[in-house]
Amino acid sequence: MFVLLAILAIGFFAYMVWRWNASGLRRECRWRQSRSEGGWTCTYCGGHVAGEARPNICIRDL
Ligand SMILES: [Zn+2]
Repeated sequence: MFVLLAILAIGFFAYMVWRWNASGLRRECRWRQSRSEGGWTCTYCGGHVAGEARPNICIRDL
């Protein structure tokens, strides 16, 4: 039983690492600051985020 739980935990951890790699690092997004609107616009998906800080994720996947 304990071995089964350990295998499940390792599998879940590997799945989370895979998800993080697939969604967090390999992004095609290019954020460009639009001074007129006071925010950031993604030239890849067309997303727009207000604020000063540059986003490091794509809102298309949210
Ligand atoms: Zn995007």
